[in-house]
Amino acid sequence: MTLTQLQSAPAAARPTLRGAVTGLPSYVPGRRSAGMDIAALASNESHYEPLPAAIAAVAGAAGAMNRYPDMAAVELRDRLARHLGVSAGEIAVGPGSVGVLQQIITGLCDAGDEVIFAWRSFEAYPILVELAGARPVRIPLDHLEGHDLDAMAAAVTERTRVILLCTPNNPTGVPISHDRIEAFLRSVRSDILVVIDEAYVEYAEAGSGPDSLSLYREFPNVCILRTFSKAYGLAGLRVGYAVAAPDIAEGLRRTALPFSVSALAQKAAVASLDAGEEMEARVAVVKQERARMSRELAARGWKLEPSQGNFLWIRADDELRTRLMEAFDGAGIMVRAYQGDGVRITVADAAANNRVLRILAAHAA
Ligand SMILES: *Cc1c(COP(=O)(O)O)cnc(C)c1O
Repeated sequence: MTLTQLQSAPAAARPTLRGAVTGLPSYVPGRRSAGMDIAALASNESHYEPLPAAIAAVAGAAGAMNRYPDMAAVELRDRLARHLGVSAGEIAVGPGSVGVLQQIITGLCDAGDEVIFAWRSFEAYPILVELAGARPVRIPLDHLEGHDLDAMAAAVTERTRVILLCTPNNPTGVPISHDRIEAFLRSVRSDILVVIDEAYVEYAEAGSGPDSLSLYREFPNVCILRTFSKAYGLAGLRVGYAVAAPDIAEGLRRTALPFSVSALAQKAAVASLDAGEEMEARVAVVKQERARMSRELAARGWKLEPSQGNFLWIRADDELRTRLMEAFDGAGIMVRAYQGDGVRITVADAAANNRVLRILAAHAA
């Protein structure tokens, strides 16, 4: 057969994507209307710039970008170990906590294994599970927008490898109490990794959620997941981490894409931890704003569950959601809509929050 015959051969079989990939939702970028004062309240980012020390650390490290970063992230892991009171061997870092979560799922799940999580919760969960060829098991939230831990425990099968608990839950803002997680951990098999995703832990009132480090010390199958993307204001740099038993953490480090956490991100994360009090001062302002918005909305007749995150959750049927989204769109306010469930709005500065309040006052349910 000549090359020409080969090229014109019939039955043009083409490369195909895996079913798990064709089934994934496509990313739809948010609309940005020119000339409008857009309030970006759709992604729960910090509306503050990064901490000054983090910006200085990035500027200082920029001249070394011709070099690969420290793949073992030794300095950052040592600093985190000191911050948390664990050893560096119990820490794995990744490109955002979503990156670490991907390492967790690909590190623990074979095809067909099951990962249980609440729904609605963080949208990345089903995507990462399906990409790994594992099976997502979604357990509906309870009537107070929180995790239904009894139903989650009842959903465990012999294929269950990982359970994801998100506290405070994204997008509803509802935490899971320490006692409830502790009872849950006593009731599930110790070979199941229970991941406590605390992306918003800095915004939670003390005592509303778990003391996850003490749970981790008591239950070796607990894995804590945290990020620099939210309260620390480094969403664009991509750095997060897990705390897990040394053998698990070591496995997570092995499954990581090489050099996925840049030197800039590592330096900025260390500098941000060193400037923790400045971060806490900013968080305190957001918490005050969250309380103010909740009060004003309650006075307008909105019935919202109290949020422990830097966002508010409005349960909404499709009619209300469509009406709200039109109003927000028209006002240049980007918020996050969830079909069939509701709308999530990031708490930002007073000026942006007032714009949100004006819209919601005009559309009280
Ligand atoms: C934002 C968020 C994350 C963090 O994502 P990064 O990859 O660290 O930016 C993790 N979990 C939840 C629930 C989140 O909302």
